Amino acid sequence: LFLTIEGGEGSGKTTLIDSLAKSLQGLGKQVLFTREPGGIPIAEQIRGVVLDKANTAMDARTEALLYAAARRQHLVEKVLPALARGEIVVCDRFIDSSLAYQGYARGLGIDEVRSINDFAIGEHMPTLTFWLDISPEAGLARIHAGEGREINRLDLEGLAFHEAVREGYRRLMTAEPDRIVRIDAEQAPEMVLDDVLAILNARI
Ligand code: C5P
Ligand code: MG
Repeated sequence: LFLTIEGGEGSGKTTLIDSLAKSLQGLGKQVLFTREPGGIPIAEQIRGVVLDKANTAMDARTEALLYAAARRQHLVEKVLPALARGEIVVCDRFIDSSLAYQGYARGLGIDEVRSINDFAIGEHMPTLTFWLDISPEAGLARIHAGEGREINRLDLEGLAFHEAVREGYRRLMTAEPDRIVRIDAEQAPEMVLDDVLAILNARI
């Protein structure tokens, strides 16, 4: 069972994953929680390059290729072995981030970005994806209110970019409604967790 959590900046993906970890482990499930871009040393190094706010000259296709490369390594080194051991894998971001951010918001085209990601991940699509939907205003306000989160290259984008990311996710969900489930992420964190657990119970 391969679950992914998606959403814009400040949508509460990390908070959800922490509470989901406690709930699933409380049920005695073996669960691997991981994140993208990163999760293993090679991919964390790529994450450093792609998110460095000094790298203002980065071309959009370079960015998309770096995310796909990090995804490939993380999949092979961490996700697939855990799935083979029969564990549940919960990943903070996966292919839909690339489709929404680079494909739609950066304007590379969802189909173009999907094709490089097909090369990277083959048939290993998530079983179920939770899209934590929040307005960019509310999401960015959370980030700027939060302590200890370092500001990255993407946080410097304007509101219009984050609106486009949201629209990208909306289109992905519309195209794959069986896989991608929208969760109202403007709710309190406990309600977000409740919604996710209810869907997991119903579907799995
Ligand atoms: O969710 P997290 O904060 O770990 O994401 C790190 C950053 O990477 C975010 O600012 C996100 O917008 C960016 N990102 C991106 N394209 C992706 C994946 C993540 O721009 N495909
Ligand atoms: Mg996060």
